[in-house]
Amino acid sequence: MIWAIHSLGNFGPLGIVQGQQILHMPMGINMVATLLSTNPSVPFRFWNKTRLLLTRHYRRHSQRSHTNMAREEGIVSLQEWQGWGTTSPLPAMVAQIVDDLKGLEQDLDAHMSFGGNGGKLQGNFRLQEDKKHRATYQALGDSEKKLQFYSARQIACRVLGSRGYLCQKCWLPMEDCMCSKLTSCSLYPGIRFWLYMHPKDFLRQNNTGKILWQVFGVDAASLCLFGIPEHEEIMWNSFKTAGKGNVWCLYPNKSEVPKSVQNVFDQEPVTSDEVAPTEVKVETTLHFILIDGTWSNSAAMFKRLQDKAKLVWGDEDLPCISLNPGASAMHKLRPQPSWDRTCTAAAAAGLLSELQLLPQFSSIELDKQAEAVEHALTVLLDALTKRRVRMGRSITRKVRQTNIR
Ligand SMILES: [Zn+2]
Repeated sequence: MIWAIHSLGNFGPLGIVQGQQILHMPMGINMVATLLSTNPSVPFRFWNKTRLLLTRHYRRHSQRSHTNMAREEGIVSLQEWQGWGTTSPLPAMVAQIVDDLKGLEQDLDAHMSFGGNGGKLQGNFRLQEDKKHRATYQALGDSEKKLQFYSARQIACRVLGSRGYLCQKCWLPMEDCMCSKLTSCSLYPGIRFWLYMHPKDFLRQNNTGKILWQVFGVDAASLCLFGIPEHEEIMWNSFKTAGKGNVWCLYPNKSEVPKSVQNVFDQEPVTSDEVAPTEVKVETTLHFILIDGTWSNSAAMFKRLQDKAKLVWGDEDLPCISLNPGASAMHKLRPQPSWDRTCTAAAAAGLLSELQLLPQFSSIELDKQAEAVEHALTVLLDALTKRRVRMGRSITRKVRQTNIR
């Protein structure tokens, strides 16, 4: 998504956007009791007890590796979870929903299967699960709990539906894995990206946010899933430590004229040109939030960031920054109809390129870091195009249907 080109006029408040999603989303599981519980420790205790029983069962009955057993039983291990591109623990509600899905599978004596784009449940299991999750969702009175449940369910289904099918690193089907063609690069340590990602974009083949941690590593470009409290807490703890003056969201702020990179950073004290790149002192890290979702979802995501910023820093707006569309790094790339010049990775590359032009950033090779992202983007688009051709799908159709973002 991008910030300077599109109009922001069409979006309502978070509640309205969420309300529209409710009608379309297949969600839910038997979580009424745990979610409605006034004692927050209940679901965790329940889950831990279940896990303990399952672990004992495995130890007694099988000699197979723990990972294989966990996979067969549907448990998502920490290793599997983190393999998808995060350093966080497995979110509690995702674990709970995975467990409930496996429980429903046993109750119905029906095998859970996934298909389509984005790990959608199939067949009779889907119908039964649909009823359950809708009931659960409706029973949740609190819109915050509803959002958390929605996000966790999306993520649980995507993880279960993608295991053994997608490469965990590039999120492409294993036969199309592009990892061997990528080159990693160190991001200047004074910059950190946060990919604030909508659950519907998690594990999407055409997502470009994943490219950033593939190139720079998960500590320099970190995933934060929208509506997953564990992820949001990690991100906001970093922002609190950094202070408001060092956190920027790449988004045009509706209420004021968005600031350009030059407006914001050109007044900073200029580092001497004689300082070699390795000697540049990193006193503060600049944190940049990239909203990684469809344009229509991004309004709710931005609203959530703003609300949290108000809680943390008072009632001022979240500082926003917009890129200069004319100076986009994407303009250097070969013209190809499938390019979406507004995708998340291109935005990060654009930001690095614009910063490079400023004196205090000119000696740290941000242009090379931007090029590394652009190269990875080219690799991703080639891989997606090859896949479509191999599967006999038209490349032209791809332009409309698999908009990268
Ligand atoms: Zn791969």
